[in-house]
Amino acid sequence: MFINGEWCESSTGNSFEVTDPATGAVIGSMPDGGTDDAERAITAADAAFAQWSSTTARERSDILLKAWQIMTARAGELAELMTREQGKPLKAARNEVNYAADFLRFYSEEATRVAGEWLPSQRSDQRFLILRQPVGVVAMVTPWNYPISMLTRKMGPALAAGCTLVLKPAEDTPLCAKAVFDVFVEAGIPAGVINMVTAKDPKPIGEVFTSDPRVRKITFTGSTPVGRMLAGKAAANLKRVSVELGGHAPFIVFPDADPVRAAKGAAALKFLNSGQACISPNRLYVSEQHAEAFTETMAERVAKVNAGNGFTEGVGVGPLVNEAAVAKVEAQVDDAVAKGAAALVGGHRLNEGEFASGHFFAPTLLSGVTESMTIYREETFGPVAPIITYGSVEEVVSLANDTEYGLAAYVYTNDISTAIRTAEGLRFGIIGVNDVNPTSASVPFGGMKDSGIGREGSHDGIEEYLETKSIGFAV
Ligand code: ADP
Repeated sequence: MFINGEWCESSTGNSFEVTDPATGAVIGSMPDGGTDDAERAITAADAAFAQWSSTTARERSDILLKAWQIMTARAGELAELMTREQGKPLKAARNEVNYAADFLRFYSEEATRVAGEWLPSQRSDQRFLILRQPVGVVAMVTPWNYPISMLTRKMGPALAAGCTLVLKPAEDTPLCAKAVFDVFVEAGIPAGVINMVTAKDPKPIGEVFTSDPRVRKITFTGSTPVGRMLAGKAAANLKRVSVELGGHAPFIVFPDADPVRAAKGAAALKFLNSGQACISPNRLYVSEQHAEAFTETMAERVAKVNAGNGFTEGVGVGPLVNEAAVAKVEAQVDDAVAKGAAALVGGHRLNEGEFASGHFFAPTLLSGVTESMTIYREETFGPVAPIITYGSVEEVVSLANDTEYGLAAYVYTNDISTAIRTAEGLRFGIIGVNDVNPTSASVPFGGMKDSGIGREGSHDGIEEYLETKSIGFAV
Protein backbone atom coordinates (compact mmCIF):
# COMPACT_ATOMS: atom_id res chain seq x y z
CA MET A 1 0.00 0.00 0.00
CA PHE A 2 1.11 3.58 -0.36
CA ILE A 3 0.51 5.95 2.53
CA ASN A 4 2.07 9.34 3.14
CA GLY A 5 4.74 8.86 0.50
CA GLU A 6 5.84 5.39 1.68
CA TRP A 7 5.20 1.88 0.41
CA CYS A 8 3.97 -0.12 3.40
CA GLU A 9 2.40 -3.36 4.59
CA SER A 10 -1.13 -3.57 5.99
CA SER A 11 -1.50 -3.07 9.73
CA THR A 12 -2.23 -6.81 10.15
CA GLY A 13 0.73 -7.81 7.97
CA ASN A 14 -1.62 -10.00 5.87
CA SER A 15 -1.49 -10.07 2.10
CA PHE A 16 -3.45 -11.61 -0.80
CA GLU A 17 -2.36 -13.24 -4.03
CA VAL A 18 -2.84 -11.85 -7.51
CA THR A 19 -3.33 -14.33 -10.36
CA ASP A 20 -3.10 -14.35 -14.16
CA PRO A 21 -6.66 -15.00 -15.46
CA ALA A 22 -5.29 -16.77 -18.56
CA THR A 23 -3.26 -19.37 -16.67
CA GLY A 24 -4.33 -19.22 -13.04
CA ALA A 25 -0.65 -18.70 -12.08
CA VAL A 26 0.12 -16.55 -9.04
CA ILE A 27 1.92 -13.44 -10.31
CA GLY A 28 2.27 -11.38 -7.16
CA SER A 29 0.76 -10.38 -3.86
CA MET A 30 -0.41 -7.17 -2.23
CA PRO A 31 -1.13 -6.13 1.36
CA ASP A 32 -4.61 -7.00 2.60
CA GLY A 33 -5.64 -3.71 4.15
CA GLY A 34 -8.54 -2.96 6.48
CA THR A 35 -10.26 -0.08 8.22
CA ASP A 36 -7.17 1.02 10.18
CA ASP A 37 -5.20 1.30 6.97
CA ALA A 38 -7.98 3.22 5.21
CA GLU A 39 -8.11 5.65 8.13
CA ARG A 40 -4.34 6.06 8.12
CA ALA A 41 -4.45 6.84 4.39
CA ILE A 42 -7.23 9.39 4.88
CA THR A 43 -5.21 11.02 7.68
CA ALA A 44 -2.27 11.38 5.27
CA ALA A 45 -4.44 12.79 2.48
CA ASP A 46 -6.13 15.19 4.90
CA ALA A 47 -2.80 16.43 6.26
CA ALA A 48 -1.41 16.99 2.75
CA PHE A 49 -4.47 18.88 1.51
CA ALA A 50 -3.61 22.34 2.83
CA GLN A 51 -0.26 22.39 1.10
CA TRP A 52 -1.26 20.66 -2.15
CA SER A 53 -4.37 22.79 -2.62
CA SER A 54 -2.27 25.93 -2.31
CA THR A 55 0.30 24.95 -4.93
CA THR A 56 -0.02 26.90 -8.15
CA ALA A 57 -1.94 25.37 -11.02
CA ARG A 58 1.33 25.40 -12.96
CA GLU A 59 3.10 23.28 -10.33
CA ARG A 60 0.32 20.69 -10.42
CA SER A 61 0.24 20.83 -14.19
CA ASP A 62 3.99 20.16 -14.38
CA ILE A 63 3.71 17.04 -12.22
CA LEU A 64 0.86 15.70 -14.36
CA LEU A 65 2.83 16.39 -17.53
CA LYS A 66 5.85 14.62 -16.08
CA ALA A 67 3.63 11.67 -15.16
CA TRP A 68 2.34 11.63 -18.75
CA GLN A 69 5.90 11.52 -20.06
CA ILE A 70 6.88 8.67 -17.74
CA MET A 71 3.75 6.66 -18.47
CA THR A 72 4.22 7.11 -22.21
CA ALA A 73 7.86 6.08 -22.02
CA ARG A 74 6.85 2.99 -20.01
CA ALA A 75 3.86 2.06 -22.17
CA GLY A 76 5.33 -1.26 -23.29
CA GLU A 77 6.19 -2.41 -19.78
CA LEU A 78 2.82 -1.29 -18.37
CA ALA A 79 0.95 -3.03 -21.20
CA GLU A 80 2.74 -6.30 -20.43
CA LEU A 81 1.85 -6.04 -16.78
CA MET A 82 -1.77 -5.37 -17.73
CA THR A 83 -1.96 -8.37 -20.04
CA ARG A 84 -0.51 -10.57 -17.33
CA GLU A 85 -2.79 -9.31 -14.59
CA GLN A 86 -6.00 -8.50 -16.45
CA GLY A 87 -5.73 -10.74 -19.52
CA LYS A 88 -6.50 -8.41 -22.44
CA PRO A 89 -4.44 -8.88 -25.63
CA LEU A 90 -1.16 -6.97 -25.56
CA LYS A 91 -2.17 -4.58 -28.35
CA ALA A 92 -5.37 -3.67 -26.49
CA ALA A 93 -3.35 -3.18 -23.30
CA ARG A 94 -1.05 -0.83 -25.16
CA ASN A 95 -4.05 1.15 -26.41
CA GLU A 96 -5.34 1.39 -22.88
CA VAL A 97 -2.03 2.72 -21.56
CA ASN A 98 -2.07 5.42 -24.24
CA TYR A 99 -5.67 6.31 -23.35
CA ALA A 100 -4.70 6.38 -19.66
CA ALA A 101 -1.75 8.67 -20.36
CA ASP A 102 -4.02 11.01 -22.36
CA PHE A 103 -5.90 11.87 -19.16
CA LEU A 104 -2.65 12.95 -17.52
CA ARG A 105 -1.75 15.24 -20.39
CA PHE A 106 -5.28 16.59 -20.83
CA TYR A 107 -5.59 17.43 -17.12
CA SER A 108 -2.11 18.89 -16.98
CA GLU A 109 -3.51 21.42 -19.45
CA GLU A 110 -6.90 21.74 -17.78
CA ALA A 111 -5.29 22.45 -14.38
CA THR A 112 -4.22 25.83 -15.66
CA ARG A 113 -7.72 26.75 -16.89
CA VAL A 114 -9.65 26.62 -13.65
CA ALA A 115 -10.84 30.18 -13.24
CA GLY A 116 -13.35 32.09 -11.17
CA GLU A 117 -15.65 34.99 -11.98
CA TRP A 118 -16.19 38.60 -11.02
CA LEU A 119 -19.94 39.10 -10.78
CA PRO A 120 -22.20 42.13 -10.35
CA SER A 121 -24.56 42.64 -7.43
CA GLN A 122 -28.05 44.16 -7.11
CA ARG A 123 -26.39 46.69 -4.82
CA SER A 124 -24.19 49.42 -6.24
CA ASP A 125 -21.85 49.18 -3.24
CA GLN A 126 -21.15 45.49 -3.57
CA ARG A 127 -19.08 43.18 -5.84
CA PHE A 128 -18.73 39.41 -5.94
CA LEU A 129 -15.68 37.26 -6.49
CA ILE A 130 -16.47 33.64 -7.33
CA LEU A 131 -13.74 31.13 -6.55
CA ARG A 132 -13.40 27.53 -7.76
CA GLN A 133 -11.58 25.48 -5.17
CA PRO A 134 -10.77 21.78 -4.69
CA VAL A 135 -13.42 19.79 -2.77
CA GLY A 136 -10.86 18.23 -0.39
CA VAL A 137 -9.93 14.59 0.19
CA VAL A 138 -11.33 12.30 -2.51
CA ALA A 139 -11.89 8.55 -2.03
CA MET A 140 -11.67 6.53 -5.25
CA VAL A 141 -12.80 2.97 -5.96
CA THR A 142 -11.84 1.55 -9.34
CA PRO A 143 -12.58 -1.60 -11.37
CA TRP A 144 -10.43 -4.35 -12.89
CA ASN A 145 -11.58 -4.15 -16.52
CA TYR A 146 -9.56 -1.01 -17.37
CA PRO A 147 -7.02 -1.18 -14.55
CA ILE A 148 -4.87 1.81 -15.56
CA SER A 149 -7.10 4.23 -17.46
CA MET A 150 -9.85 4.17 -14.81
CA LEU A 151 -7.26 5.42 -12.32
CA THR A 152 -5.85 8.26 -14.40
CA ARG A 153 -9.36 9.35 -15.46
CA LYS A 154 -10.04 10.08 -11.77
CA MET A 155 -6.57 10.97 -10.49
CA GLY A 156 -5.78 13.39 -13.35
CA PRO A 157 -8.66 15.80 -12.73
CA ALA A 158 -8.58 15.39 -8.92
CA LEU A 159 -4.90 16.34 -8.76
CA ALA A 160 -5.33 19.10 -11.33
CA ALA A 161 -8.08 20.61 -9.18
CA GLY A 162 -5.86 20.50 -6.07
CA CYS A 163 -7.49 17.56 -4.27
CA THR A 164 -5.62 14.86 -2.36
CA LEU A 165 -6.80 11.29 -2.62
CA VAL A 166 -7.05 7.74 -1.34
CA LEU A 167 -7.51 4.99 -3.92
CA LYS A 168 -8.77 1.49 -3.42
CA PRO A 169 -8.11 -0.38 -6.66
CA ALA A 170 -9.93 -3.60 -7.63
CA GLU A 171 -8.65 -6.69 -5.81
CA ASP A 172 -8.12 -8.42 -9.18
CA THR A 173 -5.72 -5.79 -10.55
CA PRO A 174 -3.76 -4.09 -7.73
CA LEU A 175 -0.40 -4.53 -9.49
CA CYS A 176 -1.45 -2.18 -12.28
CA ALA A 177 -2.51 0.34 -9.63
CA LYS A 178 0.87 0.01 -7.95
CA ALA A 179 2.55 0.69 -11.30
CA VAL A 180 0.47 3.86 -11.76
CA PHE A 181 1.54 5.05 -8.30
CA ASP A 182 5.18 4.38 -9.21
CA VAL A 183 4.71 6.73 -12.17
CA PHE A 184 3.39 9.52 -9.94
CA VAL A 185 6.12 9.01 -7.36
CA GLU A 186 8.75 9.32 -10.05
CA ALA A 187 6.99 12.42 -11.37
CA GLY A 188 7.55 14.05 -7.96
CA ILE A 189 4.13 13.96 -6.31
CA PRO A 190 4.55 15.17 -2.71
CA ALA A 191 4.01 12.77 0.22
CA GLY A 192 0.40 12.34 1.31
CA VAL A 193 -1.16 13.71 -1.89
CA ILE A 194 -1.88 10.25 -3.33
CA ASN A 195 -2.48 7.21 -1.14
CA MET A 196 -3.49 3.66 -1.94
CA VAL A 197 -5.06 0.97 0.21
CA THR A 198 -5.34 -2.52 -1.27
CA ALA A 199 -7.64 -5.18 0.16
CA LYS A 200 -9.05 -8.58 -0.70
CA ASP A 201 -12.39 -7.61 0.83
CA PRO A 202 -13.45 -4.12 -0.29
CA LYS A 203 -16.44 -3.76 2.08
CA PRO A 204 -14.71 -2.43 5.23
CA ILE A 205 -12.75 0.08 3.14
CA GLY A 206 -15.98 1.21 1.48
CA GLU A 207 -17.52 1.72 4.94
CA VAL A 208 -14.65 4.02 5.97
CA PHE A 209 -14.69 5.93 2.68
CA THR A 210 -18.42 6.65 2.92
CA SER A 211 -18.49 7.53 6.63
CA ASP A 212 -15.23 9.34 7.47
CA PRO A 213 -16.06 13.06 7.66
CA ARG A 214 -12.65 14.01 6.25
CA VAL A 215 -13.56 12.43 2.90
CA ARG A 216 -15.45 15.08 0.92
CA LYS A 217 -16.07 13.18 -2.28
CA ILE A 218 -16.41 9.59 -3.45
CA THR A 219 -15.82 8.58 -7.03
CA PHE A 220 -16.57 5.02 -8.08
CA THR A 221 -16.44 3.00 -11.29
CA GLY A 222 -17.88 -0.50 -11.19
CA SER A 223 -21.13 -2.40 -11.04
CA THR A 224 -24.51 -0.72 -10.55
CA PRO A 225 -25.43 -2.52 -7.28
CA VAL A 226 -22.14 -1.59 -5.56
CA GLY A 227 -22.23 1.97 -6.95
CA ARG A 228 -25.82 2.41 -5.77
CA MET A 229 -24.91 1.20 -2.29
CA LEU A 230 -21.79 3.41 -1.98
CA ALA A 231 -23.57 6.45 -3.44
CA GLY A 232 -26.44 5.94 -0.97
CA LYS A 233 -24.13 5.78 2.05
CA ALA A 234 -22.05 8.71 0.83
CA ALA A 235 -25.18 10.77 0.18
CA ALA A 236 -26.43 10.04 3.70
CA ASN A 237 -23.24 11.70 4.94
CA LEU A 238 -23.62 14.53 2.37
CA LYS A 239 -20.49 13.75 0.41
CA ARG A 240 -20.18 14.61 -3.24
CA VAL A 241 -20.62 11.52 -5.41
CA SER A 242 -19.71 10.48 -8.96
CA VAL A 243 -20.51 6.94 -10.07
CA GLU A 244 -19.83 5.39 -13.45
CA LEU A 245 -21.73 2.11 -13.57
CA GLY A 246 -23.05 -0.63 -15.81
CA GLY A 247 -24.41 -0.34 -19.32
CA HIS A 248 -26.40 -2.33 -21.86
CA ALA A 249 -25.58 -0.49 -25.07
CA PRO A 250 -27.89 -0.73 -28.06
CA PHE A 251 -26.36 -0.77 -31.55
CA ILE A 252 -28.96 0.22 -34.15
CA VAL A 253 -28.53 -0.53 -37.83
CA PHE A 254 -31.04 1.54 -39.83
CA PRO A 255 -32.43 0.48 -43.23
CA ASP A 256 -30.35 3.14 -45.03
CA ALA A 257 -27.06 1.99 -43.44
CA ASP A 258 -24.47 -0.23 -45.08
CA PRO A 259 -24.99 -3.54 -43.20
CA VAL A 260 -21.53 -4.86 -44.01
CA ARG A 261 -19.80 -1.77 -42.64
CA ALA A 262 -22.03 -1.87 -39.56
CA ALA A 263 -21.26 -5.56 -38.99
CA LYS A 264 -17.54 -4.93 -39.28
CA GLY A 265 -17.86 -2.15 -36.72
CA ALA A 266 -19.91 -4.30 -34.34
CA ALA A 267 -17.48 -7.23 -34.63
CA ALA A 268 -14.49 -4.97 -33.94
CA LEU A 269 -16.16 -3.32 -30.96
CA LYS A 270 -17.94 -6.22 -29.28
CA PHE A 271 -14.87 -8.33 -28.51
CA LEU A 272 -12.68 -5.57 -27.09
CA ASN A 273 -11.68 -6.53 -23.57
CA SER A 274 -13.63 -9.81 -24.08
CA GLY A 275 -16.82 -7.74 -23.96
CA GLN A 276 -16.01 -6.69 -20.38
CA ALA A 277 -16.70 -3.01 -20.94
CA CYS A 278 -19.60 -0.88 -19.78
CA ILE A 279 -19.90 0.60 -23.30
CA SER A 280 -19.78 -2.77 -25.09
CA PRO A 281 -22.64 -3.17 -27.63
CA ASN A 282 -24.99 -5.67 -25.99
CA ARG A 283 -28.12 -5.42 -28.12
CA LEU A 284 -27.61 -5.34 -31.89
CA TYR A 285 -30.88 -4.08 -33.43
CA VAL A 286 -30.73 -4.84 -37.14
CA SER A 287 -33.52 -3.87 -39.53
CA GLU A 288 -35.24 -6.82 -41.24
CA GLN A 289 -33.94 -6.08 -44.71
CA HIS A 290 -30.32 -6.10 -43.46
CA ALA A 291 -30.55 -9.08 -41.14
CA GLU A 292 -29.05 -11.54 -43.61
CA ALA A 293 -26.12 -9.42 -44.84
CA PHE A 294 -25.32 -8.18 -41.33
CA THR A 295 -25.49 -11.66 -39.78
CA GLU A 296 -23.38 -13.19 -42.53
CA THR A 297 -20.59 -10.62 -42.15
CA MET A 298 -20.71 -10.85 -38.37
CA ALA A 299 -20.52 -14.65 -38.50
CA GLU A 300 -17.46 -14.52 -40.76
CA ARG A 301 -15.76 -11.97 -38.53
CA VAL A 302 -16.60 -13.61 -35.21
CA ALA A 303 -15.41 -16.99 -36.46
CA LYS A 304 -12.02 -15.39 -37.07
CA VAL A 305 -11.65 -13.96 -33.56
CA ASN A 306 -9.17 -16.14 -31.72
CA ALA A 307 -9.47 -16.65 -27.99
CA GLY A 308 -6.31 -17.25 -26.02
CA ASN A 309 -3.57 -15.86 -23.85
CA GLY A 310 -3.22 -12.12 -24.47
CA PHE A 311 0.51 -12.57 -25.04
CA THR A 312 -0.08 -14.86 -28.05
CA GLU A 313 0.21 -13.12 -31.40
CA GLY A 314 -3.12 -12.92 -33.23
CA VAL A 315 -5.31 -13.41 -30.15
CA GLY A 316 -8.35 -11.10 -30.24
CA VAL A 317 -10.12 -12.23 -27.09
CA GLY A 318 -8.42 -12.91 -23.77
CA PRO A 319 -9.85 -14.61 -20.69
CA LEU A 320 -12.73 -13.34 -18.58
CA VAL A 321 -11.84 -12.05 -15.14
CA ASN A 322 -12.88 -15.12 -13.15
CA GLU A 323 -15.04 -18.25 -13.07
CA ALA A 324 -18.12 -16.34 -11.91
CA ALA A 325 -17.90 -14.17 -15.04
CA VAL A 326 -17.73 -17.25 -17.28
CA ALA A 327 -20.67 -18.85 -15.46
CA LYS A 328 -22.79 -15.68 -15.88
CA VAL A 329 -22.13 -15.52 -19.64
CA GLU A 330 -22.79 -19.26 -19.97
CA ALA A 331 -26.12 -18.93 -18.17
CA GLN A 332 -27.17 -16.03 -20.42
CA VAL A 333 -26.27 -17.94 -23.60
CA ASP A 334 -27.92 -21.19 -22.41
CA ASP A 335 -31.09 -19.29 -21.52
CA ALA A 336 -31.17 -17.58 -24.94
CA VAL A 337 -30.63 -20.85 -26.83
CA ALA A 338 -33.27 -22.64 -24.73
CA LYS A 339 -35.73 -19.87 -25.66
CA GLY A 340 -35.05 -20.14 -29.39
CA ALA A 341 -31.91 -18.10 -30.21
CA ALA A 342 -29.33 -19.69 -32.51
CA ALA A 343 -25.64 -19.76 -31.57
CA LEU A 344 -24.20 -19.20 -35.06
CA VAL A 345 -20.64 -19.06 -33.72
CA GLY A 346 -19.32 -20.22 -30.33
CA GLY A 347 -21.91 -20.48 -27.59
CA HIS A 348 -19.87 -22.36 -25.00
CA ARG A 349 -17.03 -22.03 -22.53
CA LEU A 350 -13.52 -23.07 -23.50
CA ASN A 351 -11.85 -25.36 -21.00
CA GLU A 352 -9.69 -27.82 -22.85
CA GLY A 353 -5.98 -27.74 -23.65
CA GLU A 354 -4.46 -24.28 -23.31
CA PHE A 355 -7.76 -23.01 -21.86
CA ALA A 356 -7.87 -25.56 -19.03
CA SER A 357 -6.57 -23.38 -16.21
CA GLY A 358 -7.93 -19.99 -17.40
CA HIS A 359 -11.41 -18.43 -17.60
CA PHE A 360 -12.37 -18.50 -21.27
CA PHE A 361 -15.62 -18.25 -23.22
CA ALA A 362 -15.76 -18.73 -26.99
CA PRO A 363 -16.46 -15.61 -29.09
CA THR A 364 -20.18 -16.01 -29.68
CA LEU A 365 -22.77 -14.75 -32.15
CA LEU A 366 -26.44 -15.23 -31.30
CA SER A 367 -29.27 -14.57 -33.74
CA GLY A 368 -32.99 -14.52 -33.06
CA VAL A 369 -32.61 -12.84 -29.66
CA THR A 370 -35.93 -11.65 -28.21
CA GLU A 371 -37.20 -9.68 -25.22
CA SER A 372 -38.04 -12.85 -23.30
CA MET A 373 -34.36 -13.77 -22.91
CA THR A 374 -32.20 -12.81 -19.92
CA ILE A 375 -29.45 -11.49 -22.19
CA TYR A 376 -31.87 -8.92 -23.60
CA ARG A 377 -32.20 -7.19 -20.20
CA GLU A 378 -29.17 -8.18 -18.13
CA GLU A 379 -25.80 -6.53 -18.72
CA THR A 380 -23.57 -8.93 -20.68
CA PHE A 381 -19.94 -8.76 -19.57
CA GLY A 382 -18.55 -11.24 -22.04
CA PRO A 383 -17.76 -11.99 -25.70
CA VAL A 384 -21.35 -12.50 -26.87
CA ALA A 385 -22.99 -10.53 -29.69
CA PRO A 386 -26.81 -10.89 -29.66
CA ILE A 387 -28.70 -9.94 -32.86
CA ILE A 388 -32.27 -8.71 -32.54
CA THR A 389 -34.13 -8.18 -35.82
CA TYR A 390 -36.61 -5.30 -35.88
CA GLY A 391 -39.30 -4.22 -38.35
CA SER A 392 -40.40 -0.71 -37.39
CA VAL A 393 -37.99 2.21 -37.64
CA GLU A 394 -40.45 4.27 -35.57
CA GLU A 395 -40.20 1.79 -32.70
CA VAL A 396 -36.51 1.00 -32.60
CA VAL A 397 -35.48 4.00 -30.48
CA SER A 398 -38.09 3.06 -27.86
CA LEU A 399 -36.79 -0.50 -27.88
CA ALA A 400 -33.24 0.79 -27.41
CA ASN A 401 -34.35 3.08 -24.57
CA ASP A 402 -36.27 0.29 -22.83
CA THR A 403 -33.53 -0.48 -20.30
CA GLU A 404 -32.63 0.83 -16.88
CA TYR A 405 -29.16 1.63 -18.22
CA GLY A 406 -28.13 4.74 -20.17
CA LEU A 407 -24.41 4.77 -20.87
CA ALA A 408 -23.48 4.23 -24.54
CA ALA A 409 -25.47 3.70 -27.74
CA TYR A 410 -24.41 3.22 -31.35
CA VAL A 411 -26.26 4.19 -34.50
CA TYR A 412 -25.49 3.21 -38.09
CA THR A 413 -27.22 5.33 -40.72
CA ASN A 414 -26.29 7.30 -43.82
CA ASP A 415 -29.07 9.83 -43.31
CA ILE A 416 -28.05 12.94 -41.39
CA SER A 417 -31.58 13.63 -40.11
CA THR A 418 -31.95 10.06 -38.82
CA ALA A 419 -28.56 10.38 -37.15
CA ILE A 420 -29.43 13.64 -35.40
CA ARG A 421 -32.99 12.71 -34.41
CA THR A 422 -31.91 9.31 -33.12
CA ALA A 423 -28.96 10.70 -31.17
CA GLU A 424 -31.32 13.26 -29.62
CA GLY A 425 -33.93 10.63 -28.76
CA LEU A 426 -31.63 8.06 -27.18
CA ARG A 427 -31.45 8.29 -23.37
CA PHE A 428 -27.73 7.52 -23.21
CA GLY A 429 -24.75 9.67 -22.26
CA ILE A 430 -22.46 8.62 -25.12
CA ILE A 431 -23.56 8.08 -28.72
CA GLY A 432 -21.46 6.77 -31.62
CA VAL A 433 -22.82 7.61 -35.08
CA ASN A 434 -21.17 5.25 -37.57
CA ASP A 435 -18.44 5.32 -34.93
CA VAL A 436 -17.36 2.50 -32.66
CA ASN A 437 -15.04 4.57 -30.47
CA PRO A 438 -16.90 7.67 -29.29
CA THR A 439 -14.52 8.31 -26.38
CA SER A 440 -11.55 10.58 -25.77
CA ALA A 441 -9.89 12.22 -22.76
CA SER A 442 -11.21 15.55 -24.03
CA VAL A 443 -14.93 14.62 -24.11
CA PRO A 444 -17.37 13.84 -21.30
CA PHE A 445 -17.85 10.17 -20.44
CA GLY A 446 -20.74 9.06 -18.26
CA GLY A 447 -24.25 7.75 -18.14
CA MET A 448 -27.88 8.45 -17.40
CA LYS A 449 -30.34 6.46 -15.28
CA ASP A 450 -28.75 3.40 -13.60
CA SER A 451 -25.51 3.96 -15.51
CA GLY A 452 -24.43 6.64 -13.10
CA ILE A 453 -24.09 10.20 -11.96
CA GLY A 454 -21.47 12.66 -13.18
CA ARG A 455 -19.04 12.86 -16.07
CA GLU A 456 -15.35 12.03 -16.41
CA GLY A 457 -12.94 13.40 -19.00
CA SER A 458 -13.20 16.85 -20.62
CA HIS A 459 -13.72 20.11 -18.74
CA ASP A 460 -16.77 18.52 -17.06
CA GLY A 461 -14.44 15.98 -15.43
CA ILE A 462 -12.59 18.59 -13.39
CA GLU A 463 -15.84 20.24 -12.26
CA GLU A 464 -16.56 17.08 -10.28
CA TYR A 465 -13.61 17.96 -8.01
CA LEU A 466 -14.33 21.67 -7.56
CA GLU A 467 -16.40 23.62 -5.06
CA THR A 468 -17.76 27.07 -5.82
CA LYS A 469 -17.27 29.86 -3.28
CA SER A 470 -18.95 33.27 -3.51
CA ILE A 471 -17.19 36.18 -1.78
CA GLY A 472 -19.06 39.45 -1.39
CA PHE A 473 -17.21 42.76 -1.06
CA ALA A 474 -18.81 45.91 0.24
CA VAL A 475 -17.10 48.71 -1.60
P1 ADP B 1 -17.40 -5.97 -10.84
O1 ADP B 1 -18.69 -6.72 -10.67
O2 ADP B 1 -17.22 -5.43 -12.19
O3 ADP B 1 -16.21 -6.64 -10.25
P2 ADP B 1 -17.65 -4.31 -8.56
O4 ADP B 1 -18.62 -3.20 -8.49
O5 ADP B 1 -17.88 -5.48 -7.68
O6 ADP B 1 -17.60 -4.66 -10.07
O7 ADP B 1 -16.18 -3.81 -8.31
C1 ADP B 1 -15.71 -2.54 -8.67
C2 ADP B 1 -14.90 -1.99 -7.52
O8 ADP B 1 -15.75 -1.88 -6.40
C3 ADP B 1 -13.73 -2.87 -7.06
O9 ADP B 1 -12.66 -2.04 -6.68
C4 ADP B 1 -14.31 -3.58 -5.87
O10 ADP B 1 -13.33 -3.97 -4.94
C5 ADP B 1 -15.17 -2.49 -5.28
N1 ADP B 1 -16.24 -2.98 -4.40
C6 ADP B 1 -17.02 -4.08 -4.55
N2 ADP B 1 -17.86 -4.20 -3.51
C7 ADP B 1 -17.61 -3.17 -2.67
C8 ADP B 1 -18.15 -2.73 -1.42
N3 ADP B 1 -19.12 -3.39 -0.82
N4 ADP B 1 -17.61 -1.62 -0.86
C9 ADP B 1 -16.63 -0.93 -1.48
N5 ADP B 1 -16.10 -1.28 -2.64
C10 ADP B 1 -16.57 -2.37 -3.25
